[in-house]
Amino acid sequence: MARNMSDNTALPAGEIFPERSARIGFSRNRLVRHSERREKASDIAAMMALPEARSFVIAGDVPILRRDGEAFTPRFTMAEAGALAPVAETALLGTLDGTPLFATLIATGEVERLKETGLFAIDLRSIAVQGLLPQDELGPLGEGKALMDWHRRHGFCANCGARTASASGGWRRDCAACGAQHFPRTDPVVIMLAVRGDRCLLGRQARFAPGMYSCLAGFVEPGETVEDAVRRETMEEAGIRTGRVRYLASQPWPFPSSLMVGCLAEALDEDLVVDAIELEHARWFTRAEVGAMLRGEHPDGFTAPLPFAIAHHILKAFVEEGESF
Ligand SMILES: [Zn+2]
Repeated sequence: MARNMSDNTALPAGEIFPERSARIGFSRNRLVRHSERREKASDIAAMMALPEARSFVIAGDVPILRRDGEAFTPRFTMAEAGALAPVAETALLGTLDGTPLFATLIATGEVERLKETGLFAIDLRSIAVQGLLPQDELGPLGEGKALMDWHRRHGFCANCGARTASASGGWRRDCAACGAQHFPRTDPVVIMLAVRGDRCLLGRQARFAPGMYSCLAGFVEPGETVEDAVRRETMEEAGIRTGRVRYLASQPWPFPSSLMVGCLAEALDEDLVVDAIELEHARWFTRAEVGAMLRGEHPDGFTAPLPFAIAHHILKAFVEEGESF
């Protein structure tokens, strides 16, 4: 699809549709992106000059927050954002309820000094887990973090090695030396629940909290469909053949720039052969067990991922909505 295609004006601007994805952390994003205006520098400058314009400030890959009464906010006026530290990049994220929202990148090295001025530097995962910001703010902030982190890592052309410069309102980097254009990347990751009758397959990595089990997951590789990636990863990690694959929901996962594609897979056999490098353990759980894990009531202390993660919602779909094959 053309990168510069206009917004589909048939869609109501900023509406949240009732699909499953919109209930997941980082997925709820009401920003109207105005992609058709990104090429017009004068439009962007005019939006930036509006008194109501605000910017997130990202130090490397860590959002800067400030106190707003009892709560936190990641929003700064454009003047405040520009005065905190030397600005490395700025991008127009879009407008939210008419307010232009930008993201500003500053150097990681500024964090300690900013903390001394009463500001907070809190990594995005902790912001989500601790519920420090409203759901409506988490999606746009994740977008800003992913985009700024991409700028930070792509200062040089992957084609010829020359320095690149931000273009198109912060949504592209251009190389003047060879003419290459580079776009922010999104890396698809399949995350799937293999089900067989009343049971589902969950695994745990050594880095997980004790007792926590989750869906299997892995990056989609070049030349693969989502369905093929689901079947390959389930076979590689657990030795289970899967047949039909069905899409359930997706989640932007800005660590640093993934899109989690949540699927249900029909398991064709039951004997596990666990890849000890990928997983510490895997096993089958009944629907009732997973329900108890989601409620934190499993008799053996097993737990499920928290609601900000898509795995939680895939498990809920299996337990509460009867999703199966
Ligand atoms: Zn180049």
